[in-house]
Amino acid sequence: MRCPFCKSLSTEVIDTRTGDRGTLVRRRRRCRKCERKFNTIESAQLLVSKKNGKSELFDERKIVNGLVKACKGRPVAYEDILAIAQEVEDSIRSEGVVRISSRQIGLAVLEPLKKLDAVAYLRFASVYEDFDSPEDFKRAAMELENPK
Ligand SMILES: [Zn+2]
Repeated sequence: MRCPFCKSLSTEVIDTRTGDRGTLVRRRRRCRKCERKFNTIESAQLLVSKKNGKSELFDERKIVNGLVKACKGRPVAYEDILAIAQEVEDSIRSEGVVRISSRQIGLAVLEPLKKLDAVAYLRFASVYEDFDSPEDFKRAAMELENPK
């Protein structure tokens, strides 16, 4: 952690506290070079930037809900939906990012969904790829039949 004052990389932790019901870690640090103190906050929370410009906390239930809608009437087990949502969440968290766009999440869902059910995939893609004409559906359906 770089010192915000002199930009030195040589800093030490002098106090650590968890807050916000364990989802945050606050650290008090001291710079070894300029000896000033500063606070840092670490969070495992992930923010999602939405299309309308607002942000919200990542919520895996939203992925599950989106998948349930896309898979309505399709021979897809709820367990498979949960597995995709978990897979996507794991891959996002393993990258260690603090912010991701809702579109990136949607695209991350598409790949495993394609293997699971073609119709559900097309429904889901229509939302996340901004399909706005029947031609977009046709193109995506053709790509499913003839993968590049
Ligand atoms: Zn410093």
